[in-house]
Amino acid sequence: MRIPFLDLGRQHKVLQKDIDRALSEVFKKQKWILGDEVKLLEEKISKYLKTNYAVGVNSGTDALVIALRALALKTKGKEYFDSENEIITPSFTFTATGEAIVRAGATPVFVDIEPETFNINPEEVKKAINKNTVGLLPVHLFGQPANMEQIVEIARENSLFVVEDVAQAFGSRWNGKFAGSIGDAGCHSFFPSKNLGGFGDGGMITTNDAEIADYARWLRAHGGKDKYNVDYIGYNSRLDTIQAAFLLVKLNYLETFIKMRRELAAYYNENLKGMDQIVLPLEERKAFHTYNQYTIRVKNKRDWFQEKLKEKGIPTMIYYPVPLHKMKVFKNKARIKTELRETEKACQEVLSLPIEPLLNNTEKEAIIQAIKESVKILSTS
Ligand SMILES: *Cc1c(COP(=O)(O)O)cnc(C)c1O
Repeated sequence: MRIPFLDLGRQHKVLQKDIDRALSEVFKKQKWILGDEVKLLEEKISKYLKTNYAVGVNSGTDALVIALRALALKTKGKEYFDSENEIITPSFTFTATGEAIVRAGATPVFVDIEPETFNINPEEVKKAINKNTVGLLPVHLFGQPANMEQIVEIARENSLFVVEDVAQAFGSRWNGKFAGSIGDAGCHSFFPSKNLGGFGDGGMITTNDAEIADYARWLRAHGGKDKYNVDYIGYNSRLDTIQAAFLLVKLNYLETFIKMRRELAAYYNENLKGMDQIVLPLEERKAFHTYNQYTIRVKNKRDWFQEKLKEKGIPTMIYYPVPLHKMKVFKNKARIKTELRETEKACQEVLSLPIEPLLNNTEKEAIIQAIKESVKILSTS
């Protein structure tokens, strides 16, 4: 038996007929760039997430860069932020979060996370704010929204913008509101392994602000209303029509697959509870977690534990082994104001379990069995 961590092929079989039909339509029409399907996907996503606008772009990373640059234009009337401008974000995230801040001209200020949720700690955000702070960039890590109530309140009190990194949390909700509809802008990724995955790279910016939406539309296509006489340095970062056609089909199945991910998480919760050596993920009372990852902590010997599971045929992943503040690339480009103890501890302990929504019962039981056997060895060693 080979248990997959994620098996997009299995999921594709469910969708194949619909996808074949949708793609063949695009081939017939040959409108590859910003065709009707892009517009339709933008409309459907803004309706689903309850935002006024949605702008399709090339990737989640570009969504972040473009949203931040739109905010530089809106709030400062400048194309880029200056390096004195600080944007507060967690260090326990994927590189792209920090990278986007630097590419928009600002300096990332990394703060620590809450140990229970792995998300940015609002108390640490408060401590990091100073006169140079311009915005907050929370990440809804693993599919669980950050505490948006507190983050929005802190932002309001300090006149800061909020950009949400929703790359891992399409369809997640905080207190009933969709992730990506709460801050000034939400940045989504359609990377294949994300909740709404394309067949290549893709992304989207959602916002309720007409000005941000306009800037984003201009920046994704070279930087101006007039294609042959542009105003700003932009990008070629359009979402392809064929990608949008594929995503329109997948959007119809999104809730079904999210439900399956939540059922798998509930199965893990039920069958792995009560073991001293491992800590299960907590779903906040106000969060609707979509489990892009189901991430446990192994309190000691995590790497040994991972190897043991591998020997038993169970694939797992470490998201993330190195926090952003320890990466070479951010050494001279980012700041930290306090030690990030919880972040560094998480990097030592986290282990993401297989999250394929279509795992069968035999596979699920094999995973539980392997974890129980490995925990047993841990507790006697
Ligand atoms: C995947 C991801 C991104 C980047 O998205 P891409 O579509 O791969 O560019 C940004 N932030 C986080 C937290 C991610 O997981």
